[in-house]
Amino acid sequence: MTPASAQRYTSSMFRTIIEPFKIKVVEPIRMTTPEERQAILKHAHYNMFNIRAKDILIDLLTDSGTSAMSSEQWAAMMRGDNAYAGSNSFYRFEAAVKDLTGYVHIIPTHQGRAAERILFSTVCGKGQIVPNNTHFDTTRANIEAAGAEAVDLVIPEGKQPQSRHPFKGNMDLNRLEALLKDAKPGQVPLCMLTVTNNSGGGQPVSMENLRQTSALCRRYGVPFFLDACRFAENAYFIKLRESGYQNKSAADIAHEMFRLSDGCTMSAKKDGLVNIGGFLGMNDGDWAQRCRNLLVLTEGFPTYGGLAGRDLDAIAQGLKEVLEEDYLKYRLRSVEYLAERLDKIGYPIVQPPGGHAVYIDARALLPHIPPIQFPAQSLCSAIYEHGGIRTGEIGNAMFGRNVKGKEIPSDMDLVRIAIPRRAYTQSHIDYVVEVAEHVHKLRETLRGFRVIRQASVLRHFTIEFEPV
Ligand SMILES: *Cc1c(COP(=O)(O)O)cnc(C)c1O
Repeated sequence: MTPASAQRYTSSMFRTIIEPFKIKVVEPIRMTTPEERQAILKHAHYNMFNIRAKDILIDLLTDSGTSAMSSEQWAAMMRGDNAYAGSNSFYRFEAAVKDLTGYVHIIPTHQGRAAERILFSTVCGKGQIVPNNTHFDTTRANIEAAGAEAVDLVIPEGKQPQSRHPFKGNMDLNRLEALLKDAKPGQVPLCMLTVTNNSGGGQPVSMENLRQTSALCRRYGVPFFLDACRFAENAYFIKLRESGYQNKSAADIAHEMFRLSDGCTMSAKKDGLVNIGGFLGMNDGDWAQRCRNLLVLTEGFPTYGGLAGRDLDAIAQGLKEVLEEDYLKYRLRSVEYLAERLDKIGYPIVQPPGGHAVYIDARALLPHIPPIQFPAQSLCSAIYEHGGIRTGEIGNAMFGRNVKGKEIPSDMDLVRIAIPRRAYTQSHIDYVVEVAEHVHKLRETLRGFRVIRQASVLRHFTIEFEPV
């Protein structure tokens, strides 16, 4: 094959989108029998967090920290230098993050919530308000722990599972402006925007909306920060869906997104393609100094921030790889593929699918199980029992509350099927689809659950159930 004809065969001529990597190291996964899994479920009190990884065939609980690293990332880890102060790894990491974001100050942290805690406890306090499209749970918790109020202002379409709006993560600009207008001077210390909007189903924000949110914040003198965990997936959605961006590279789009903002919090466990790490970036020198002072107190010296040098090198490399378009095309397509197949079987799912997960509306699928009997828990349990697949309950166990022995159900009962980055192949996904098809046939026989033990906060991690 001549180089010229070889080039024609790379992507445009064939329909199939392949995994743009081959496998160098393998990690065996273990088949179990349905009888074993019934015993495991019972022993785990039907809580997915209580099941050991060795008993799981395909683990779709989360896309956080579960990426497969590349050979270049492993090579970078060998180069990692663990000098306490001023390590070479830090300067490579800092250069990669500065090149991506354009921010003046880059502060490494051990994961996203550490960046959040440091930022919010430095710049927020009692009586203050922080708007966002939708705050992620750790973001909200850290704002509230600092004494401030976290306000969600996503557009109305962002809360309608069946709305096909292409950018369901967009900020509602009218409500944001009303909030900024009503606020006392200094009452809004910063405005956040989460790309993609994880708590809203991994839905993207358009560049137009980023631009307008940025301009509005500037007009009111409020610093504008991104929660940038899935910036690359958001950038590729912009390329696919927003006019004027088809011929721009994902990297150029990401640069444009970051340059509309004044800073960011980042969990590198998502689009950093690593298993641990994060950072805080910003332009304001005074804020950065105060954040570094706090960093030294709880995370570490500002050139390592709670990470080993090798972790910083892995992030520096991951941030480059995540913007490769063959990767992003495969990434978004594999999530969309699973969504299409589940839709065809008859599963009610949140539409359109987001960048990192497919969400099944278990309340709609299992109308015979009332919300107080945890329909999403029932579906998670069945998917594990029949196929050894772990998914996540995002419903009544996570967001419902028990007040004086009475259950107050959450708004929705969703099952999240999160896809780890570069970890599974299409045949794994086809197996998930086959298990889902089997469970769908049994749906009328699935039963609800009752709680036998629970904690008063973040109960979903330790809650124990028994079948009704
Ligand atoms: C994961 C996540 C965080 C928190 O990051 P951790 O690394 O888990 O601490 C914050 N915001 C969003 C949108 C996330 O998805």
